[in-house]
Amino acid sequence: MTTLLISDLHLHPGAPHITEGFLHWLDERARGCDALYILGDFFEAWIGDDLLDLGEQDPTGNATLAARIADALKRLADGGTAIYLMHGNRDFLLGERFANEAGASLLPDPSVVQLGGKRVLLMHGDSLCTRDEAYQAFRTQARHPLWQQQILSMPIQERIALARQLREQSFDSNSNKAEDIMDVTPAEVVKVMAEHDVTTLIHGHTHRPAVHDLEVDGRPAKRYVLGDWQPGQGWEIDVEDSSEPRLQTFPLP
Ligand code: MN
Repeated sequence: MTTLLISDLHLHPGAPHITEGFLHWLDERARGCDALYILGDFFEAWIGDDLLDLGEQDPTGNATLAARIADALKRLADGGTAIYLMHGNRDFLLGERFANEAGASLLPDPSVVQLGGKRVLLMHGDSLCTRDEAYQAFRTQARHPLWQQQILSMPIQERIALARQLREQSFDSNSNKAEDIMDVTPAEVVKVMAEHDVTTLIHGHTHRPAVHDLEVDGRPAKRYVLGDWQPGQGWEIDVEDSSEPRLQTFPLP
C-alpha cells in the first residue's frame, strides 16, 4: 500500500514549469500507487466547472490547463489509483464535474482517513489560521452555498474578472499582515485534533513545510505540513503500509 499526499501546487497557466513537473511526477511517481490525496490549492484559482466548456475560447488559458490536468488524473484513476480532492482557499469552487472528469472524489475539509493503520486528520489548513480574522470572515461567507450559487450564476467573463480582482486584493492585504497571523494557531491545532481524536494531522496552506511534535490530550502527536510546489521543486508525503508518514521534497524537471 502506498498513499501519496500533495497540496498547494497553485497550478496556473503562468507557471508552466509546475504543470509540466506535476504531469511528470504523476507518470513517474504516482502511477501504481493506491491513493493520491490532493489537499487543496491544487489550482491557483477556480471560477466554476463550466470553465471547462470554454476550452481554447478562454483567453486566460485556465480552461485548457484544467482539461489537461483532468485528463492526466483520469489516466491515473483508470490505472487503479483512488484520487481525492480537498478544497483550498483558492479553488474552493471546484465542483463535482471537474472531479468526475478527473476520476476523483471530493473530500470534505476536515476528513479523518485511515492511513498506515492509523486514523489521520486531513485538512487544507486555512481554517487553522484563526488569528487572520479578516480572512476567516471571508471564508465563512465564501463557503456558504447561497454565496457560491450567486457567484456561479454570474456570467463567466465577470467571474474571470472577479477572480483576478480577489487575487490582487489578497496579495495587497497579505503583504501587510504580520508573519505569525499567516501561520496556524497552535491552540486551534490541538483543539481540532482533540475533537477528532487523532494524534496525526496532515495539512498544507501555510507554505511552511515541516514536521511538528506536539501533545494532544496528554498524548504525543505529530503535525505534518506539506510544502508548496515551485518551479523545479515539489513536495509530497508518502505513507507505506504501517510506516510513519514521510515528508519529502524532490527536484522537478
Ligand atoms: Mn491555501
